[in-house]
Amino acid sequence: MAEQFDVVVIGGGPAGYVAAIRAAQLGLKTACIDKHTGKDGKPAPGGTCLNVGCIPSKALLDSSKHFHHLQHQYADHGISVKNPSIDVTTMIGRKDKIVKQLTGGIQQLFKANKISYFNGTGTLHRDKAVSVALNDGGEQQLQAKHVILASGSVPIEIPGIPYDNEYIVDNEGALDFDHTPKRLGVIGAGVIGLELGSVWSRLGAEVVLLEALPDFLAAADIDIARQAAREFKKQGLEIRLGSLVKRATVSDGQVLVVIDGKDGEEQLTFDKLLVAVGRKAYTDGLLDEAGVELDDRGRIRVDGHNRTNVDGVWAIGDAVRGPMLAHKGSEEGIAVAELIAGLPGHINLDTIPWVIYTDPEIAWVGKTEAELKAAGIEYRAGSFPFAATGRGLAMGDAVGMVKILADAGSDAILGAHIVGANASELIAECVVAMEFHGSAEDLARIVHAHPTLSEAVHEAALHVDRRAIHRAN
Ligand code: FAD
Ligand code: AMP
Repeated sequence: MAEQFDVVVIGGGPAGYVAAIRAAQLGLKTACIDKHTGKDGKPAPGGTCLNVGCIPSKALLDSSKHFHHLQHQYADHGISVKNPSIDVTTMIGRKDKIVKQLTGGIQQLFKANKISYFNGTGTLHRDKAVSVALNDGGEQQLQAKHVILASGSVPIEIPGIPYDNEYIVDNEGALDFDHTPKRLGVIGAGVIGLELGSVWSRLGAEVVLLEALPDFLAAADIDIARQAAREFKKQGLEIRLGSLVKRATVSDGQVLVVIDGKDGEEQLTFDKLLVAVGRKAYTDGLLDEAGVELDDRGRIRVDGHNRTNVDGVWAIGDAVRGPMLAHKGSEEGIAVAELIAGLPGHINLDTIPWVIYTDPEIAWVGKTEAELKAAGIEYRAGSFPFAATGRGLAMGDAVGMVKILADAGSDAILGAHIVGANASELIAECVVAMEFHGSAEDLARIVHAHPTLSEAVHEAALHVDRRAIHRAN
C-alpha cells in the first residue's frame, strides 16, 4: 500500500529541500526524496549546491584567498610571515567538514518540520504515484496530491573529452585535488571556471582558461567585465579568448588539449584539465510514463508559475528554464509550496542577483548597458570607483566600481553592476531597490553608513544625476 502525502518533492537540493520545508510549514504532509550520498557514503541532502557547488567552492575560495593575501597583501599592512605554506589536505578537510555540517543541518530541519526524507531515487509514474528505489535496498511506494520535481543539473560533457576524474575533471574533481597541480587547464571562462581556476591559481598553479567566445564574461556589463579581466590578468590567470577546445587526450600523466584559436590549431599540455562549459538539466530515471513534457534543451517545461503540463506536477530549480542559481531555485520552491497551499506564491525572475566569487567579486542585477541599448531603452548611467572610498582604502581592497543604470524618464533602476570587494553583499541593496521599483534618486536619498563600501553604491546613484560628492561629475 502506498504511503499518502500532500506533497512529494523529488530532489533535495536548494530548490527541493526549501520547497519541502515551506510546504511542511504550511501544514502539508510532505516527503522529500534525494539520492545523494556524501563522501562517507551517508545520506547527504543539499544537492549540487551544498555538496559539490556553491558551498565547497566558497570554502576553498576563502582558504585560498587568505593564502594569497598573506603572500601578496599583508606586507602592505606591515605583516610578514616567512615561507608561508598551505596544507591542501587540511584545506579540503575543512571544506568537507562545512559540507557535512550543512547537509546534516538539512536532515535536522527535515525532522523538525516532520518531513519524511527518503534517501534513494524517485521516479514519477502516472497519476502522481512515486516509487523510490532506496539506496539501502528495497523500494517504497508513495502517492501524492502534488509532486514537485527538483532534480537539478549535471555538468555538460564535451563530446570526445570524457571525464576520467583523475586528469580530466568536472567541478566535483576540482574541489577535491589532493595537491596543487603545476599546470591547470580550464575549459570555459564562466562562473565555475573562474571561481575554481582562481582557487588553484592562488595556491600556485599556472592556470590557463580556454574560452570559445571572443568576449570575456559576455553576460556581465562590459565595464565590469573589463575591470575584472584586468585584475585576473594581474593575478596571473591566463584567459585565452576565442579558443575553442576541440580535443583532449591523456598520455603519460599529462593532458594534451587541442584548441582552435586565433592562429589556427594549437596544442597545449596540462597536469589537470577542468571542464567547466556549463550545466544541463538532469532528468535521468525521473519520469516514467508520467506524461511530463521536456523542452528542446531537455529541461522540464513549465509555465510562469512552475506548473508542468501535468495537473498537480510542478518543477523548479536547475531542471527548468531560467538562471541556474541556488537562490532562484529556492525561491521557486517557496512560491510553488505557497501556490499548492492556495496562497499567492510568486517569484520575479527579473531581479535575480548574479554573483561570481572571484577576487574582486562580481555581482549584478537587472539589465546591462548593452541590453538596454539593444532594447532601445533610454537610460542614464552613474558610476563610482572603490578607490575613492575611505573604507576600500583602509581595507587595502579598493579595486573596482559600482555602476547604476536608471531609466532616463522615470529614473527607475534598470540594472546595478558591481566589481569589487564584497560585491556579493552590496548587490542586495540594489535588489531591494529594484524589487520596490526604486529610482536612482531613492538610493541617493538613503543614508549610508560611513565609512563603508556601500557608500560607492550611494555615490554611483548620485552620479546618475551628476551630483556625486567624492568624484568629478
Ligand atoms: P541540485 O542542487 O542539482 O539538486 C538536485 C538534487 O536532486 C541532487 O541531490 C540530485 O542527486 C537529486 N536527484 C536528481 N534526480 C533525482 C531522483 N530521480 N531521485 C532522487 N534524487 C534525485 N549557485 C549559486 O546561486 N551560487 C553559487 O555560488 C554557486 N556556485 C556554484 C559552484 C559550482 C562549482 C557549481 C557546480 C554550481 C554552483 N551554483 C551556484 C549553482 C547551484 O549549485 C545550482 O543552481 C543549484 O544547486 C540548483 O539547485 P537544484 O535544487 O535545482 O538542483
Ligand atoms: P558558464 O555557462 O558560466 O558555466 O560558462 C561556460 C563557458 O564555457 C561559456 O563561456 C562557453 O562559451 C564556454 N565553452 C563552451 N564550450 C567550449 C569549448 N569547447 N571550448 C572553450 N570554451 C567553451
